[in-house]
Amino acid sequence: MQQVFESQQATALAWRRSTVQERIERIKRLRDGMLEQRDALYEAFMQDFHKPRMEVDGTEIIPTLDEAKHTISHLRKWMKPTRVSPTQLTLGNTGSIQYQPRGRCLIIAPWNYPLYLMFGPLISALAAGNPVILKPSELAPRVSAVMARIIAKVFRPEEVALFEGALQTSQELLAKPFDHIFFTGSPAVGKIVMAAAARHLASVTLELGGKSPTIVDETADLTKAAQTIMWGKFLNSGQTCVAPDHLYVHESVKDRFVAECKAVLAERYGSTAEQQRSSQDFTHVINQRHTQRVSGLLADAVQRGARVLAGGEVDQAQCYIAPTLIDQVPAQASIMGEEIFGPVLPIMGFTSIDQVIAEINSQPKPLALYVWSRDEPTIDKVLTNTSSGGVCVNHCMVHVAHGNLPFGGVNNSGIGNAHGIFGFKAFSHERGVLRSTWLNTIKMFFPPYTEGRQKVVTFLSGWLAR
Ligand code: NAD
Repeated sequence: MQQVFESQQATALAWRRSTVQERIERIKRLRDGMLEQRDALYEAFMQDFHKPRMEVDGTEIIPTLDEAKHTISHLRKWMKPTRVSPTQLTLGNTGSIQYQPRGRCLIIAPWNYPLYLMFGPLISALAAGNPVILKPSELAPRVSAVMARIIAKVFRPEEVALFEGALQTSQELLAKPFDHIFFTGSPAVGKIVMAAAARHLASVTLELGGKSPTIVDETADLTKAAQTIMWGKFLNSGQTCVAPDHLYVHESVKDRFVAECKAVLAERYGSTAEQQRSSQDFTHVINQRHTQRVSGLLADAVQRGARVLAGGEVDQAQCYIAPTLIDQVPAQASIMGEEIFGPVLPIMGFTSIDQVIAEINSQPKPLALYVWSRDEPTIDKVLTNTSSGGVCVNHCMVHVAHGNLPFGGVNNSGIGNAHGIFGFKAFSHERGVLRSTWLNTIKMFFPPYTEGRQKVVTFLSGWLAR
């Protein structure tokens, strides 16, 4: 590891001069290497997650291809220095922003979308001209093994290297003076990563998680809301950073909305517990520990008085938890205190949108927030009075796939952005470049500080204060 890390320094210096064609060629190599292993990836996802092929395509391979294509199409423009006008004090100089590679980068990924959350940032890092060390999660080992094969085939270790492993590997890597660390994972580990980065003053991008709320008001299109939210919540068995975590629905439409949701679940996964359990279209929980954690949250909520509206079955051995809806969940239930990250959706009735906003603002800022309404003043009120990494109006999760939107959290849900030009910038140092022209206004600040110069300076400060 140390040898690879050291070898990447020469690459980092050489790649400062890399052209747009060279960077695009590296991204294409990665893309083609991934496509060559497509069948192995389907197999690995089935073994690690019981994840249907359609979902591997829809949530892993296609988003990675999209990131690559978008980056390849726009990289020439992104790499061009941006010209900026002089400000009053710097008249006579020109200014531009140069996008320089940051240098040696470390990307640490989680297990829930192990391919996209590793190769997506890698595409941005390569676009920005950086060598990279990758550390996938130990919890999706078959997918990690295929990714390791792809990287070893496509890149030399001094360009991009992948180290599989758990805590110890992560800690060893975090001890090294990387120039930038891009971490995707939980807020708790995000703090550890940021503390490690602080030792070398490495810059960080932290893509974290949290409890993303969803609001459905009385004017919403309930059918569209039910169809889309049931997709967002139960895709990947709820193990999605931007999955609707819990839901507030207006009391006056709650019963109708719940009925629509139950109908959608029956149509997609089967109407009996047995049909749902054997559904080939439903991903399972990643491992025994997480199955126990999520079923523990469910059991705690039920024990405190929550009602199961749909689902509720758990098969610990198969890491299976049915798509589950619950209501009457008391605020003290553990499920209302931690990110669920599993296929259980608490549904709360509300009568006052102000109360919902107050509840959201009493929690750490979420990664995503979803509002379903046809009433513009309500939408405006929610957008103005809340904060979250991203937000969708009458949609959910799809903002992640929008390459021209910044994707990231805020405070507890993250620092910095990914995707498209925002990912390129995350892996670039924005260097300010000033060039002097014939007009040398700084001369008025040179000593000796004569009365004449003092007058000019006094005039200038008066003018700037106006
Ligand atoms: P995690 O924080 O447990 O692990 C993420 C990575 O950090 C893994 O590679 C793991 O090996 C490593 N790691 C774990 N403990 C560590 C430690 N003490 N020191 C150093 N490294 C350590 O997260 P996870 O369980 O893999 O993923 C789930 C979390 O990630 C959820 O909170 C989810 O919301 C979040 N997430 C966020 C995004 C996003 O884009 N914002 C995307 C996916 C997941």
